[in-house]
Amino acid sequence: MNHNNDILELADRCVKCGLCLPQCPTYHLSRNENESPRGRIAMIQALARNELEATDETLYQHLDNCLLCRRCERVCPSGVEYARILDLARQHINQARPPSQLHKFGQQLLSQHTQAAYRGLRLYQKSGAAKLLRPVLRQNKKLAWLQSLLPPLPAPQKFRPHYPVNHKAAGHVAIFSGCMGKNADAPTLAASIDLLHALGYEVSLPHAQGCCGALQQHSGQNHQSQALAHNNLQAFSHENYDAVLYLASGCGAQLMNYPQLDWNTVEQKTQAEQLQAKLQEITGFVATALEKASLSFAALNKRVIVHQPCSQRNALRLPDHASKLLAYIPDIHLSTLPDDSPCCGAAGDYMLRHPQQAQSLRQHLLDKLLADKVDIIVSTNIGCSLFIQTGLENKAIRVIHPIQLLREKMQE
Ligand code: SF4
Ligand code: SF4
Repeated sequence: MNHNNDILELADRCVKCGLCLPQCPTYHLSRNENESPRGRIAMIQALARNELEATDETLYQHLDNCLLCRRCERVCPSGVEYARILDLARQHINQARPPSQLHKFGQQLLSQHTQAAYRGLRLYQKSGAAKLLRPVLRQNKKLAWLQSLLPPLPAPQKFRPHYPVNHKAAGHVAIFSGCMGKNADAPTLAASIDLLHALGYEVSLPHAQGCCGALQQHSGQNHQSQALAHNNLQAFSHENYDAVLYLASGCGAQLMNYPQLDWNTVEQKTQAEQLQAKLQEITGFVATALEKASLSFAALNKRVIVHQPCSQRNALRLPDHASKLLAYIPDIHLSTLPDDSPCCGAAGDYMLRHPQQAQSLRQHLLDKLLADKVDIIVSTNIGCSLFIQTGLENKAIRVIHPIQLLREKMQE
């Protein structure tokens, strides 16, 4: 489908004021107009007017360099929906120059065969192969980078599809665990179930749920992202849950976007809107539920800094729920980064495609996070947590979800 008119309608709202430029991490790194939101919008307008070819390599590179952190959207006085414009442009480009089979395979492995990929990576780590191969991989920059991105992986856990309560439930909630929830983010999922249970909630983990489709959506593969979204709509439509809670803000941003996909029927769009109306971020949900509960938490005399992922701040526009939640822990020393703190550089699979930029951005963020002594960094997005963790030289600093920290301090 050609979206040129949609692109022009959305992009023409940009008045080229340039207020977004100082906020853009790629502009900050390069000082190149074509690496800024305004420059990218101008190029996309030229593409939609057929003044630029969809196969143009320079155009492709400048758009591909965008992190989709959406900092530009937050400050734009004209309300330009930059992410929608970029997604439509990438769809257009994707038709003219489809991604390589290797790229597609990598995305499928990450999003649809996650359990198998995770088991393989753990085996690689546990068997000693990772240690053995390290000197060999160091000879190749790309492979050495990939190896450096692998933090110690927790054992995957088995989860039941349903966790009932023995008394009258406070409500029935479902958890969207995404592709990472049962493996790399298993400690967060387990902690969420425990806390929700302690708060009196019956909890379900619909078995048929899968990847949210964000990776495919942002690389122009709209058919694949739509199929994944359809699968999730089916998975969460069998029960009338009071809320559907997501653990990772990156997934949450994509789930909230489901009603905007190109649905073929009114029924599918309605289902997407119904799911959207029930979605809540786990940290905010638990923080609110705690206001009426009588749970108690053990003291923690540690310095904890809150990292707010771009997906939470700029896409979902949520407040800092983590600080509200962790304030329930006595003696905790909590701090937050300033509101304009930079993107960590992980950005889905961006760190795989753009090692240098990702590394520079991560270092910039780490300099801010570690400006004062810190024991624990909390983040609500697993992709950011893993990437930040692998950049830390001080291995004693933990990077975890705020829900996991709260669970560790909950007194039974
Ligand atoms: S995207 Fe918004 S802030 Fe950036 S140049 Fe256009 S109108 Fe200005
Ligand atoms: S989404 Fe982020 S990287 Fe992309 S143009 Fe906007 S501010 Fe720059």
